[in-house]
Amino acid sequence: MIQLIRGFRDILPGEVEIWQRIEQTAVALFEDFGFRESRIPILEHSELFARSIGEDTDIVEKEMYTFADRRGDLITLRPEATASLVRSYIQHRVYAREPVQKLYLIGPMFRRERPQKGRYRQFYQIDAEIFGVHSPLADVELIFLLVTLLSRLQVTDVGAHINSLGCRRCRPHFRTALLDFLTRRSELLCSDCNRRKARNPLRILDCKVPGCREAMTDAPSILDHLCPDCQRDFATVQSHLDGLGVPFTVDPRLVRGLDYYTRTTFEIQTGALGAQSAVAGGGRYDGLMELLGGPDLPATGFAIGLDRLAEIVGFDRSGIARGPDVFIAALGGDIRSRAFEWCCRLGVDGIRAEMDFEDRSLKSQMKRADRLGAARVLIVGEREVQEGAAILRDMQTRDQVAVPLNDLVENLKQKIHNTSD
Ligand code: AMP
Repeated sequence: MIQLIRGFRDILPGEVEIWQRIEQTAVALFEDFGFRESRIPILEHSELFARSIGEDTDIVEKEMYTFADRRGDLITLRPEATASLVRSYIQHRVYAREPVQKLYLIGPMFRRERPQKGRYRQFYQIDAEIFGVHSPLADVELIFLLVTLLSRLQVTDVGAHINSLGCRRCRPHFRTALLDFLTRRSELLCSDCNRRKARNPLRILDCKVPGCREAMTDAPSILDHLCPDCQRDFATVQSHLDGLGVPFTVDPRLVRGLDYYTRTTFEIQTGALGAQSAVAGGGRYDGLMELLGGPDLPATGFAIGLDRLAEIVGFDRSGIARGPDVFIAALGGDIRSRAFEWCCRLGVDGIRAEMDFEDRSLKSQMKRADRLGAARVLIVGEREVQEGAAILRDMQTRDQVAVPLNDLVENLKQKIHNTSD
């Protein structure tokens, strides 16, 4: 038996309805906030990610699915969406027509991480980006959107964590102070952190190894090194989050795994997911556009992990899969043929009707109707044909009414609409 690839998974009916509900809720919210969807390829030139995410990040160092195609070009299954969205914005010169773009994308991402619960090698993200806006209000809008989405999905036990990573001007000062501190602590750090020290020291702030966490408790805080502009922006973010009633925690240790972040970064964490506590993350990345050969325009965005979100949504999962509006239990070949036409005509009118295509007893058809969660069963056998009326049984109340076979589809539609209003 050929099985699926390790770290990949199937989302089957039963679970997929939860994903659909999440996606519909997200899309409705994005559209209400003026975001528009972008659909872009899953494969890109490897260089796009190496340049944007950063050569020294875990993603680029060891997690990308990179292949040589038949001509030998190196291509990569996208590990995240931002770089591709920026590439597309630059390539089509969208900025020349209208630099401010609010975009969203929902789709699969690929990272060859060690699989565990909540961590997959193909996973899905809901991604939102705002291009071309310097104002920190864009960051506030994104955080507000995220928190609103989670509340619409009835996710509880979540908290917004925010930090500022400074900018091209002030981050180098912090980096120097941090390196100074790290040199004094190097024997306490794990081997990964010692390796990261020279190239990506900020990541050490985020290391989950207990020894490193302890060694870093009195590390210098980026917030003490922000330049006046970054300070002002970060204060604006906080005061507007307060104004909108969004609770948040300032976490000076919050850094993100990708190199391109500047100024405000944020993460939504939850206690409901065990080790993989981050359900969404994002922030500002003002340098990326230029780094990828585009204009020097600012940008900010976030990504939500759909796989993790599906684990923690609070809405009632039990009745979410829509059962048939009516199951037609037809007895006998001729009646089944008529029933088949009724099903098709009802379906066209938005009424989900199911039936059995095989010759089965009434009892077994009733059982199947029950398994499918049908709201009603329409019973049509020889006797009903003779009497000119089928029996419509409400599966919940067990009430039964007669429905004339003459013009059955219309009669049934009326009955169903009357009871579902
Ligand atoms: P990142 O792009 O690393 O900032 O991740 C954004 C969000 O995507 C995270 O908060 C997770 O919810 C989700 N995510 C990242 N990596 C994985 C993975 N390997 N499996 C499942 N979800 C993931």
